[in-house]
Amino acid sequence: MPFENARARTMEDLLNLINGELRPAVKGHWMDVHRPATGEVLARLPKSTADDVELACVAAEAALPAWKAMGREGRSQVLLELARLIEADLEGFAQLESMDNGKPLSLARKVDIPRAVANFRFFATAIIHFSSEAHLMDDVAVNWTDRQPIGVVGCISPWNLPLYLFTWKIAPALAVGNCVVAKPSEITPCTAFRLSQLCAQAGMPPGVLNIVHGSGAEVGAAIVAHPRISAISFTGGTRTGAEIARVAAPMFKKLSLELGGKNPVLVFADCDLDEALDTTLRSSFTNQGQICLCGSRVLVQRAIYDQFRDRLVERVKRLRVGDPSDPSSDLGAVVSHDHMEKVLSYVKLAQEEGGRVLCGGERVRLDGALSKGWYIAPTVIEGLPEQCRTDQEEIFGPVISIAPFDEEADALTKANNTPYGLAAVIWTRDVQRAHRVARSLQAGIVWVNCWMVRDLRTPFGGVKQSGVGREGGVEALRFFTEAKNVCIKL
Ligand code: NDP
Repeated sequence: MPFENARARTMEDLLNLINGELRPAVKGHWMDVHRPATGEVLARLPKSTADDVELACVAAEAALPAWKAMGREGRSQVLLELARLIEADLEGFAQLESMDNGKPLSLARKVDIPRAVANFRFFATAIIHFSSEAHLMDDVAVNWTDRQPIGVVGCISPWNLPLYLFTWKIAPALAVGNCVVAKPSEITPCTAFRLSQLCAQAGMPPGVLNIVHGSGAEVGAAIVAHPRISAISFTGGTRTGAEIARVAAPMFKKLSLELGGKNPVLVFADCDLDEALDTTLRSSFTNQGQICLCGSRVLVQRAIYDQFRDRLVERVKRLRVGDPSDPSSDLGAVVSHDHMEKVLSYVKLAQEEGGRVLCGGERVRLDGALSKGWYIAPTVIEGLPEQCRTDQEEIFGPVISIAPFDEEADALTKANNTPYGLAAVIWTRDVQRAHRVARSLQAGIVWVNCWMVRDLRTPFGGVKQSGVGREGGVEALRFFTEAKNVCIKL
């Protein structure tokens, strides 16, 4: 199996999964996948085109009747087996995810891969309990909602949590009986490839899940524009989401868009300071700050501002940027050279806008084989004027801003003052304030005195430019089905 010996090898060829077959792109072209820790080439992936997407769609359509006929029990068994196979190879998946993305191996072991397993298990069992609604009109009629799979659906996922977010989409789509044409990010395709090697073993019929590798501009765009793909579930940047909506909306496709964020963390003076500090450190820099849910604007009530800032900066300075495979590394590499340049350009911009860099702010050069890797020191910036670009645009790296606020109303105005509305965190011991502020925040997800605590049954998604629609639990099962009302006269 390719990547069996991933640590020892530097070069592999990834393949598309189409109609149950692992195959190169129709045109035979390739593109490189890099290893962020060292900057070296890790693998080649098929540089697919619309021709490959077409083959995948034909295979998916042909597979629909048999997949649907397996019924929810049958599909559930396949997805549970897939979960079991990933779990049995957790270490292999985790090493690959870390190598491909640059994230600490410890994080991939603890979060990314277990969560991918949980996604399959959750939706494999959720469909067993998913019931349709009935509406009785006294003695007149009974209505019941028939929820059928949509048909062939497209799933497009980003690079920050590669297998975690890929499976978050394909698991519900498959569970309810759709066939899928999926595209992982071209930057981090390795674990999706490893997953494709397990599908047949898990009992998944050919054509049910098709994975087409390649660039967003070519493969992603071909999936979005394909007339026989009736729904698109996309996670990625807001600009890409807008482009997808522009193409898909006139075709009346169902759309779920999970986009960017600029999440505020509100620290009130009555909070548990130690806990707020511990968690803010994590919510700022986990995965090098490359999680859509990371808090990137830390707003602290003035009475504790100096104390909180100084203690936070002191803790950030102690974070260790290092080899992703070293268990003592808190941060690994950011995902690509381009992304590193983009993040550093925001630090420069912040300074031009009047911000003071309290710590970090530069590229970290490690020794030996890691000297060409893409590492950034965790960065805290203070003194930015309101409405500046640094505080309005998504940076998506290990960079946060910190600023004081006076009263609750001031905190809310500042928190809501961006075009985004994905997540927010509140730190307070006042339960009434927690409710009040949570309800007034323009965000799809609010955590009080915690961060990234996830129950897969809850709705997940954002408001404003952070997206359209919700994923998770019943929301996902509803998105991936078409509701038909059947009205029967009594
Ligand atoms: P991008 O928008 O660049 O890419 C996301 C996916 O879309 C990739 O697979 C990409 O392919 C593909 N793509 C690019 N262009 C097109 C197109 N024209 N048509 C169809 N597909 C296309 O995002 P990133 O990969 O850079 O991911 C980071 C972004 O994701 C951040 O903005 C982050 O906030 C957001 N995100 C949102 C989450 C949420 O739940 N709201 C969760 C996680 C991340 P390729 O990589 O091959 O170019």
